[in-house]
Amino acid sequence: MLTHQGRFSVVGQYATAIAHELNQPLTAAANYLAALRLTLKDSAPEAAELARAAGLQLLRAGGIVQGLRGFVSKGPVKREVQDLRSLLEEAFDVALIGVQDAGVQVRLKLPDEPAYALVNKLQIQQVLVNLVRNALEAMRTVPRKQLEIGLRAQPVDGHECAVICVADTGIGVTDVMGDQLFLPFVSDKDDGMGVGLSISKAIVKSHEGMIWHEAREGGGAVFKFSLPVLNNGE
Ligand code: ADP
Repeated sequence: MLTHQGRFSVVGQYATAIAHELNQPLTAAANYLAALRLTLKDSAPEAAELARAAGLQLLRAGGIVQGLRGFVSKGPVKREVQDLRSLLEEAFDVALIGVQDAGVQVRLKLPDEPAYALVNKLQIQQVLVNLVRNALEAMRTVPRKQLEIGLRAQPVDGHECAVICVADTGIGVTDVMGDQLFLPFVSDKDDGMGVGLSISKAIVKSHEGMIWHEAREGGGAVFKFSLPVLNNGE
């Protein structure tokens, strides 16, 4: 049930506008990559393969944008039972493209047991991507750059939940941002739109979960969100 719809309608309009604007350059870039792949196919097959992989990621980005647009503008979206471990692994790969070059040490901590939840995969991956991007931005100016993404089972408000956690060693959330973090259009970045966390909150709430922030011991920020888990994948 999308009970948040009214409150997030401003975010919804904004996200729809962004999705609309992004569609065109994403399509154009995918077309250029397809042409590049054809050009390189015979002379440099390895480079052609990279162009193909890049094209796939662009299509994926297009899918995320469209999914978000559908989510905020049209109402219920399809959900499936997913093992959150594989969902996280995939999101991790997407969110971290190019990160190793930025000198960030990354770690993904997954449990041995599966954690099944009824989710819209693209939306939950979108939340992950938003949190990881924020973490990377927060670490841009610090010398120690460590990012950890974890998943563990934990009761939240008396319900058995899977809690997903993104911890960074960045500048930390400033006092000024305080409780306003999850409100739309709140940003302290020069080029920030301030919609990432509010959209993430809308997505998590629509999955009957919670999202919150904690300060990281030793400096940095930890963002966590919970999702109700299903027993035995039922
Ligand atoms: P934006 O990234 O465009 O500013 P968000 O809604 O994603 O929008 O984030 C809102 C604000 O929350 C950011 O401007 C930043 O001040 C703070 N924030 C979010 N994630 C982090 C983080 N990992 N470390 C420190 N501050 C953060």
